[in-house]
Amino acid sequence: MTDEVDEYGFSTRGVRAGVRRTEQGEQSEPIFTTSSFVFGSAEQAAARFSGAEPGNVYSRFTNPTVNAFERRLAALEGGERCVATSSGMAAILTACLGLLKAGDHVICAHGVFGNTALLFGNYLGRFGIETSFVSLTELAAWESALRPNTRLLFVETPANPLAQIADIAALAALAHRHGCLLAVDNTVCTAALQRPLALGADIVVLSATKYIDGQGRCIGGAIVGSEALVGREVYGALRTTGACLSPFNAWVFLKGLETLAVRMRAHSANAQHLAEWLGRQSVVRQVYYAGLPEHPQSELARRQQSGFGGLLAFELEGGRAEAWRFINAVKLISVTANLGDTKSSITHPATTTHGRLTAEAREAAGIREGLVRIAAGLEDVEDLMADLKRGFAAL
Ligand SMILES: *Cc1c(COP(=O)(O)O)cnc(C)c1O
Repeated sequence: MTDEVDEYGFSTRGVRAGVRRTEQGEQSEPIFTTSSFVFGSAEQAAARFSGAEPGNVYSRFTNPTVNAFERRLAALEGGERCVATSSGMAAILTACLGLLKAGDHVICAHGVFGNTALLFGNYLGRFGIETSFVSLTELAAWESALRPNTRLLFVETPANPLAQIADIAALAALAHRHGCLLAVDNTVCTAALQRPLALGADIVVLSATKYIDGQGRCIGGAIVGSEALVGREVYGALRTTGACLSPFNAWVFLKGLETLAVRMRAHSANAQHLAEWLGRQSVVRQVYYAGLPEHPQSELARRQQSGFGGLLAFELEGGRAEAWRFINAVKLISVTANLGDTKSSITHPATTTHGRLTAEAREAAGIREGLVRIAAGLEDVEDLMADLKRGFAAL
């Protein structure tokens, strides 16, 4: 699936991979907004439906624009196959539907995206799939949570919002010693900064809504991995259960991949600058960013990532009242929970993204009331610092 561009570098693949130019000779990729496809004859329709002849039937199964996005993302993540989905959550759910069954056990990191924790903890349990939650960074905890029926280890690294880093290679080795699969949520780094499959993970899941779109426009997701796991099991689940990606959103993401490497470098540079600056403010108790040498897994991050990404968090002296006063004082930075946008955003995780977790689950995940998360966008960093100074002045 990774076509003719395998031998090229990452940026070239981001711009060129997956293209199948039509007879119109277009330079930019077209959008195929069609729900179904026309056959030349009844015989051909039968052959397409039975699978005897490859080709498009219906856009829940295949769509040329969605497939172009899938081929390009597969080429960037280094996987044989990619399956695009209607959201990041749909990517995680569809991967589970394709790879798990009642009676299976999952081990998931504390501190994963709030809805991911709810999906495993509240919903999959109803269908007989039990999940244990363990500390992201303690390999021994993963090992002792293993059961004979454990089938999947699920991790998000760097974790949002505290930027803890999981050792992907070590978790992959543990999973494979026990006949399990390792899934990594690569939303925060993207393939531009981290390639989990090359480190031994079996599948990558991600929300394309964030950095792959890059400008906060569309919801979507993807699963990447081998032909056997993703091409057969996960794709089989998707075409039947139906959380497919719309061609328009696929086109936005396809074009987003063309600038992904450049944008991730710029997001990382702004976040690094802000993290260092925030660390020098007297009312900041702690800054969470793996690009800081005092970060507990900064060595590991340096080893498995080629950059630290755009997401950082900091804890203010005081609690919710101080955090809210700070957030209410900024003018430029958007108060919104999205991340991966050119526009910087600021949020209070304890009452937004992680607000539906129980207080105990939040405490276990380390999300305290004084915590503020910033997703550094692509504005001038001087303007971002001037804006954050308004927050500090309000305390
Ligand atoms: C946003 C997000 C998701 C869910 O993606 P949606 O596109 O919002 O469904 C999953 N994982 C992480 C790390 C995210 O940030």
